Amino acid sequence: MLNHDRSHTIFSEAQNLIPGGVNSPARAFGAVGGEPIVMERGEGAYLIDVDGHRYLDYVQSWGPMILGHAHPSVVEAVQAALLKGTSFGAPTETENKLAKLIIDLVPSIEKIRFVNSGTEAAMSAIRLARGFTGRTKIVKFIGNYHGHVDALLVAAGSSAATLGVPNSPGVTPGTVADTILLPYNNVDALKKTFQEIGKEIAAVIVEPVAGNMGCVIGSSNFLYELRHLTQTNGAVLIFDEVLSGFRAGKGGAGQRFSITPDITTLGKVIGGGLPVGAYGGKAEIMNNILPVGKVFQAGTLSGNPLAMAAGISTIRTLQELNAFPILERKMTMLAEGLEDEARSAGIPVAVEQIGSMMTLFFLAGHKDNTEKYHVSSTTFNGSTVDRSTATSSTGGCFANKIIDWETASMCNTQRYATFFWNMLDRGFYFPCSQFEVFFMSTAITESEIQQTIDAAKEVFKIMVS
Ligand SMILES: *Cc1c(COP(=O)(O)O)cnc(C)c1O
Repeated sequence: MLNHDRSHTIFSEAQNLIPGGVNSPARAFGAVGGEPIVMERGEGAYLIDVDGHRYLDYVQSWGPMILGHAHPSVVEAVQAALLKGTSFGAPTETENKLAKLIIDLVPSIEKIRFVNSGTEAAMSAIRLARGFTGRTKIVKFIGNYHGHVDALLVAAGSSAATLGVPNSPGVTPGTVADTILLPYNNVDALKKTFQEIGKEIAAVIVEPVAGNMGCVIGSSNFLYELRHLTQTNGAVLIFDEVLSGFRAGKGGAGQRFSITPDITTLGKVIGGGLPVGAYGGKAEIMNNILPVGKVFQAGTLSGNPLAMAAGISTIRTLQELNAFPILERKMTMLAEGLEDEARSAGIPVAVEQIGSMMTLFFLAGHKDNTEKYHVSSTTFNGSTVDRSTATSSTGGCFANKIIDWETASMCNTQRYATFFWNMLDRGFYFPCSQFEVFFMSTAITESEIQQTIDAAKEVFKIMVS
């Protein structure tokens, strides 16, 4: 075990000052047991903790740091903005620049409004959808997370699931009375709901690629059906791409799957590590927000010049590097490497990857040679998923495709915790929960990915010994 003395001292003090010592429960290491590591700084692909240990970072502040930490272009842009003053409460040209970049890259967005977090974006998008349609009901999917918006804080995936609070105290029954919960990737449940109450639904909010029950990819069948049903019933389709934006595809999952939602919410990457959220979509809908329309939404620091500068520089750098295919290729290398080594060690896993997002799911099987791993391909919503590498005789005997919260939640979280701590000890920082996404950054090299795979190979051996 690495020595974390200084980290421990600081975190102990934090626990007396801040509830649980953290300003977001996702950081609390509750799901893997033990204490979070206190970080000192970030440097490209690495995080350095207060005891001087370096970790190759696959968490990336839970998504935003797609260029790695303290990227020179971003630092320079933020420094330049800083010298001009930090907030004016008046329009600035930088807001236009980031708006244009996003509108160019995300085909469904005609107009955009910046806010300060993904939570705010989801909250505002829901209000707008209700104001626009004059309806009250909203549909959300089990295991999808849209920030800590009261009306959406039911069956919200990782943090909630991890901490065993599916429904938070403080969220009144009234607040969620108009929230309809449906299973993810389930076309039948969707059709049934729309048949019954389609004309009462203001909005369906969905992570087209889910990132908060681990990486779970919306099937094209499911997403097309969603688009079709919302359209024909006059409901607003909201793609929550706070996490998948600039990750699942170069213009997000909507762009990648060629589906045009009415509203898209963004955050994380578009702030380059500063607090930003945004929601945008059809001008016809967006023009219902004040001061053009009547739906209220405001923010003292919204469109903040430092945050805009960080976002502009992040997206421009991604474009200059033609980063998207490179990130995807590197993530595939990691995904295949981890999957192969786990299988060779006899550990049943499922890997879900799209773009620079991936989760290694530890399936709930045991190492039992009598149970044949009979899944060489899985039929998933009509398309065949090739699992030809999955012919090990040592896995469990269940479908090795994670498609929703039900299949995700069956995973072996204890095994994940063992993986997590052993990788951390070797200098690799993975998310502290099975139900989170691993991220690739442009700062991580192929040789560092190979080092990760080699370290994982050692860890998998320990896990089965
Ligand atoms: C992170 C996240 C949010 C919330 O964003 P915050 O900036 O943490 O408020 C909303 N939706 C999704 C899909 C997210 O991953």
